[in-house]
Amino acid sequence: MPKVAQVEPITTARALRGPFDYNCPDGVEVGSVLGVRFGKRELIAVVTALKDSSEHELLDPIEVFAASLPADLVALAPWIADQYCSTPARAFSLMLPPKGVRERSALFASAARQPQPSDRLTDNQRALLSTLPRLAGSELSALRRLEGRGFVTLEAQAQRRAPLHAEVGPKAGAEGPDLTAEQVEAVAALLAADPGEQILLHGVTGSGKTEVYLRVAAEVLKRNRSVLILVPEIALTPQIISRFIARFGETVAVIHSKLTAGERYDEWMRLRSGEAQICIGARSAVFAPLSNIGLIVVDEEHDSSYKNDSDPRYDARHVAARRAEDHGAVLVAGSATPRAESWQRLRRLTLPTRVDRMALPEVEIVDMRGSSASLHASTYQALVDSKKSIVLLNRRGWSNYLSCSSCGHAWECPSCDVTLVLHRASGTISCHHCGHRERVPERCPQCGSISIARHGTGTERLETELPGRVFRLDGDSGDAGAVLSEFEQADVGILLGTQVVAKGHDFPDVELGVVVDADQTLRFPDFRAEERTFSLVTQLAGRSGRGEARGRVIVQTFTPDAPALVLAAQHDAPAFLAGELDRREALRYPPFSTLIRIVCSSAVGGAAQESASALQQQLPGSLGPAPLFRLRGRERSQLVIKADDRAAAVAAVNLAVAKNAKLRGQKSVSISVDVEPQ
Ligand code: ADP
Ligand code: ZN
Ligand code: ZN
Repeated sequence: MPKVAQVEPITTARALRGPFDYNCPDGVEVGSVLGVRFGKRELIAVVTALKDSSEHELLDPIEVFAASLPADLVALAPWIADQYCSTPARAFSLMLPPKGVRERSALFASAARQPQPSDRLTDNQRALLSTLPRLAGSELSALRRLEGRGFVTLEAQAQRRAPLHAEVGPKAGAEGPDLTAEQVEAVAALLAADPGEQILLHGVTGSGKTEVYLRVAAEVLKRNRSVLILVPEIALTPQIISRFIARFGETVAVIHSKLTAGERYDEWMRLRSGEAQICIGARSAVFAPLSNIGLIVVDEEHDSSYKNDSDPRYDARHVAARRAEDHGAVLVAGSATPRAESWQRLRRLTLPTRVDRMALPEVEIVDMRGSSASLHASTYQALVDSKKSIVLLNRRGWSNYLSCSSCGHAWECPSCDVTLVLHRASGTISCHHCGHRERVPERCPQCGSISIARHGTGTERLETELPGRVFRLDGDSGDAGAVLSEFEQADVGILLGTQVVAKGHDFPDVELGVVVDADQTLRFPDFRAEERTFSLVTQLAGRSGRGEARGRVIVQTFTPDAPALVLAAQHDAPAFLAGELDRREALRYPPFSTLIRIVCSSAVGGAAQESASALQQQLPGSLGPAPLFRLRGRERSQLVIKADDRAAAVAAVNLAVAKNAKLRGQKSVSISVDVEPQ
């Protein structure tokens, strides 16, 4: 019997890294989650290994929790740390069930001593005993002290907190429709794939990809293996969840941000115990505690929400591939607009047509050169003529920025070097990066002029220019779900919003989609700008014309010849991706290299730039340092590395950053490393 548990304490401090040794209570295994005393603090810790002896004097853990991690996740954490320049503890914190609702392990409770009851109770404890039948969670720790002294016995009784949509019986639902020949072929290919193989399922919206996932999932369950389904933003894609629940019933566990901590915990435990064998969730569900995974689906694999934007900056698609390998599972990446990376690297299956055999919508490019209105006259007319439309404009607020017509003064954020955006309804101008707000100015602070010009059009302003009833969906318009269901129920109307409107929802009766300013995404200074624009137009096309009418998409632009637009209009993803891969190869962008971005930031003038220069010296071949705009009062400077060998480059960066942190005068600088930034 091992006597010593090596643990990794869960803390965000980079300097504090395990393993540390503790006494190992009976029954504790690799993956067990303990409460341990660490100096003066009490921390949660994960057992990463067991051994027979230690050269240290050891403490007992104070708690053993009911939730434990499966061994494959224990091994995944250090890998995440290595791949994304983070720490195992930070990786573990992504894997553990939510804080605050952790239950104590039955194992540990039963091992508690049995002291003689004594009458030395405090008034508090006596009062508590008399109210036992109506206890809330907050009294739990007091109760545990009583339990420890033998006055009461605590027994965990599971009562599942059912998430949103739990009015589903245990029965599995319908069998699903007869598959098309292409679907049959795709299902067969996926079921015959090699363990760990990754396959791209390329098919336009409505080509029957989800039906393929459902069929393969059913087979995988029959083989007694589990299924992991990743989707972009679950609150915006309820349809796929309800289809899985309708078909498979209670074996489906759903993990998403709208769940309470309690619901999340319960779903996590159902997966961990094997009671639920299908997990559907957004990015973080890639760490679901499933065992023996047979199938991993990454739906809408091009979606940027798969990348985590805080440390560890993991990419769920990359982690999913690693888990598929660990479990010998097949990974399916599905999309109408796959990433160039996936197009090049993965075996491809294609669903070439919509299941309903309807032609794809006609996409029309409208040249806006010489026009100053936000909507072209023909676009306006098309909106008048259509019953239901979706209009996409990637800019919130009323107008882009304000400037003084007399002296040219432009209103900028005091903490970030960006202009403030006018929000007329709230009477404010605000920074979309840090949230800084001011009242709308009446006069110029520089010259006193009251003549203030408003430039550019955002969704708030466009709303007033559109014909008919408008349903606005953007960061300012409150509950997205409510807006979407109102729009869905309406017979006539326009859904106006930032790019969320192009994502995932199924509205069967939308006839028209409009991209108001395609250049907005196309001009974004990033090598993925073209890919994102292509995808945006294609996704919008996928959202329209699903009822009786064929559907139509209008794209307004000042660059009507841009390949991303022309090829999107021709629905030609293969041609677009071929061109895109050529371009990336020439420029040595992914998938022909791995990008690593290092951002140094500091509130002290010049420090960020200095730190980035020092790093540049240590990382030969790195590009920069290049100044970025000031954000939240901090100057920023960036280095970019295009690496052929990812592992070697990440190791070199880790080393350089650690060295840099020790330098004098760098205390004010924080350094963030993003491997494969989005
Ligand atoms: P995608 O995931 O590619 O958008 P779906 O699987 O959602 O496609 O299919 C689009 C629609 O067609 C859905 O309503 C689905 O129920 C239906 N469908 C899928 N496959 C078939 C089929 N073989 N026969 C009839 N209807 C189908
Ligand atoms: Zn002025
Ligand atoms: Zn700001």
